[in-house]
Amino acid sequence: MPEPDIAKATSDAKQYLYSFAGGSAEGDASMKNLLGGKGANLAEMANIGLPVPPGFTISTEVCTYYYDHQKTYPENLFEQDIPASLRKVEQELGKKFGDPENPLLVSVRSGSRASMPGMMDTILNLGLNSETVEGLARKSGNARFAWDCYRRFVQMYGDVVLELKPTDKKQIDPFEAILEAKKHEIGITLDTDFSVDDLKEIVAKYKAAIFEKTGKNFPENPYEQLRGAIGAVFNSWNNERAVVYRKLNHIPGYWGTACNVQAMVFGNMGLDCGTGVAFTRDAATGDDIFYGEFLMNAQGEDVVAGTRTPLKIEQLKAENPEIYNQLEDIRSILEKHYRDMMDIEFTIESNKLFMLQCRVGKRTGVAAIKIAVDMFNERLISEKEAILRIEPEQLNQLLRPVFDLKAKKQAIENGRLLATGLNAGPGAATGKIYFNAADAADASKRNEPVILVRIETSPEDIKGMAVSEGILTERGGMTSHAALVARQMGKVCVAGCGALTIDYQKGEMRVNGSDIVLREGDYLSIDGSTGEVIAGEVPTKNSEIIEVLIDKTLKPEDAPTWAIYNQLMEWADRYRKLNIRTNADQPDQAETAITFGAEGIGLCRTEHMFFGGERIDAMREMILADDIEGRKTALDKLLPYQRDDFYGLFKAMGSRPVTIRLLDPPLHEFLPHTEGEIADLAAKIGKSVETIRERISDLHEFNPMLGLRGCRLGILHPEIPVMQVRAIIEAACRLKKEGHEVVPEIMVPLVSTVKELEITAEIIHKTARSVIAEQGTGIRYLVGTMIEVPRAAITSDQIARAADFFSYGTNDLTQMGLGMSRDDSGQFLPTYQQQDIFARNPFESIDIDGVGRLMSISAKEGRSVKPDLKLGICGEHGGDPTTVEFCHKTGLNYVSCSPYRVPIARLAAARAALQS
Ligand code: PEP
Ligand code: MG
Repeated sequence: MPEPDIAKATSDAKQYLYSFAGGSAEGDASMKNLLGGKGANLAEMANIGLPVPPGFTISTEVCTYYYDHQKTYPENLFEQDIPASLRKVEQELGKKFGDPENPLLVSVRSGSRASMPGMMDTILNLGLNSETVEGLARKSGNARFAWDCYRRFVQMYGDVVLELKPTDKKQIDPFEAILEAKKHEIGITLDTDFSVDDLKEIVAKYKAAIFEKTGKNFPENPYEQLRGAIGAVFNSWNNERAVVYRKLNHIPGYWGTACNVQAMVFGNMGLDCGTGVAFTRDAATGDDIFYGEFLMNAQGEDVVAGTRTPLKIEQLKAENPEIYNQLEDIRSILEKHYRDMMDIEFTIESNKLFMLQCRVGKRTGVAAIKIAVDMFNERLISEKEAILRIEPEQLNQLLRPVFDLKAKKQAIENGRLLATGLNAGPGAATGKIYFNAADAADASKRNEPVILVRIETSPEDIKGMAVSEGILTERGGMTSHAALVARQMGKVCVAGCGALTIDYQKGEMRVNGSDIVLREGDYLSIDGSTGEVIAGEVPTKNSEIIEVLIDKTLKPEDAPTWAIYNQLMEWADRYRKLNIRTNADQPDQAETAITFGAEGIGLCRTEHMFFGGERIDAMREMILADDIEGRKTALDKLLPYQRDDFYGLFKAMGSRPVTIRLLDPPLHEFLPHTEGEIADLAAKIGKSVETIRERISDLHEFNPMLGLRGCRLGILHPEIPVMQVRAIIEAACRLKKEGHEVVPEIMVPLVSTVKELEITAEIIHKTARSVIAEQGTGIRYLVGTMIEVPRAAITSDQIARAADFFSYGTNDLTQMGLGMSRDDSGQFLPTYQQQDIFARNPFESIDIDGVGRLMSISAKEGRSVKPDLKLGICGEHGGDPTTVEFCHKTGLNYVSCSPYRVPIARLAAARAALQS
């Protein structure tokens, strides 16, 4: 392919390429959608005068064009636009692409809107061929360096562009095989010990391998190389690991990636060269320290891939104070400019510093909160910004378990501490050892807790990492793939534990210098906060926040993490409009939820109050009774339990609202199943086994979820709601007499017509009136309904007339709205998600277009009749941040979620309010 003739071609009007060079750029940090994160930040760094090697970004629109047009490119891209942009780079550097005397070499890197570390492809040293390699050797005065670059380039290009990379774990990379064979032949272990002639021979063998596999010669023309590399980058947007990563991180496929073509600078040209990565603060703890690693005489890949263990950045201070100070300055410039913790990549070429990348640094939940609160105190950001900086799900990490210290101490005293690696992802994990991602995934399907143990991880391991409790690697630093990805997933991780030798073939892990061997399936415990690796199982215990809030075993003043958590929650409460309630059926659950900030109970599932001990017998007796008398006898046994339960719950909640739902048991959940259970029950309730069997058979339903449940049960057997309402009102009256005012919210489940609600409401009012009269104590109560049947949602104007409040039961509304069983959808939903039919599991995060629309219609219709109708949500979706945001926009009064998700919902509600 000859060098294109720029003069002849004419570009179409659209700008697809954005240059950056010498203190200015065509783009800036705000253009992430178009330039990807990497491209936008390279432009921004150039604009603020940081030393960035010149280059240009091919926009994400080219990627989407590529996929929309059968993998072709916009007209003139390669004929005119790219050569013109390359010309600018050439002028800036006084080098020329493909020039045998003074060749310009480039890197070609992916970069999408959201960071996807290591998921897509990169090609370095592009532009080298058998002529330019000699030019580079002459120019650098270092033939070994030039041939080492060429060797790396042919290998990378062969793997990535020409697709020689192995596709499964049994295959061997042909280039690695050639490299290893040569090392073996000449008796060396390090790449740096190859001579120029060795490298030349390896390159020749690489090219022969390429010819053998593809039937084509390795491309010598740099423009052809460039076209191939750009195509590979765009193709890598849709490789399997990128697709999996996108799924896990909710990144849509239509975004596409940008592609950055940038002049190479070399960290591997000699001892005055090097490369490194750093965070402007500690990404694990959030501490305000410069936190990074570097390697001299190496390329960036060596650091990220974890093949050599890098040195701590402080060591650079001793080795090269000038460069270190320059980096410290850049650290401070970047933090002030971006007002955030940044993650940077740099290269030192012949004692000159270059910035290759900067982006907002990934961090643990603990670090995210600490950095946000600290940056507020440093007056870098406002409290509103601090709230918006923290993803609600990150709070999960603060609530995660740590090891029981006593048990851990004991384990260590017993000699079970095997080694200590890097504390790459905090938290405590214990599980069984698996050595590869596929086995880990299988074990997790068997519900085994997994510790994934790898020499080092690569993006292929992502599936295994996602299912593991924790990840342990033998090699790699704090910024290795394992460390970065684990932190981002919120997984416990110990990295670079060089005291271990892992043997995949034998399926075992040895502790160096001892005869200790652990095998697949053995228990292992890792502490991602200290880096300790301990043989066997060590029980985990609650986090600092749990100790302060729930266990009350730690004083707030001794708990710095609790203090920043508390600060954040105070801010969140200042801005949120939604109230946050909890789904709780027991006083202890209610108390936990209150400590997490719950402002009421949005759903008490009364059937859950009957699971334990003798209650289930009375409950079964009630269900199996074949006449009203039998039922009443059983209900009389249940009444005192219910009254005490409600009393306890009201008391725990103080003056906060409590919504109690009338019985909604899918009957099959309560019936005895085994012969033993049937015989046992028969003896207890004085009936024959035969009678019980017959009654179970009578009650059999083909589809219990759509059967005799919800309000239908009370309409058929009013004595059931009568007992429950009596218990509720008696409990409230008792509290009133004790000086506590409660206003119970009685909720009717599974209503589909207003008539059902009216009939049930009538039973409630009649019973309540008579109990109030008996007790001689006036109390207030509300009667409302769940909206969980689509018909109820779209007739909400009618239903609102008979209701004081609505609560969206989105579990059933999703089940019925999508016609998708709550219990059976596990079989097909994973495939549905894989095929993008649903981006998220609709039982986890609300299907906004469908179920969400039903809710919006209902809210509008309901409030058209009763403008101040109280609206809430109590399905599992109530703790999902995206759903919380939707509920805010739809004008709900509250969301109700499980106790441990209350902090997440508080933060999500504040963010929703600030974003709208
Ligand atoms: C619902 O359907 O969303 C709900 C809260 O009720 P349950 O899950 O008990 O059916
Ligand atoms: Mg329901």
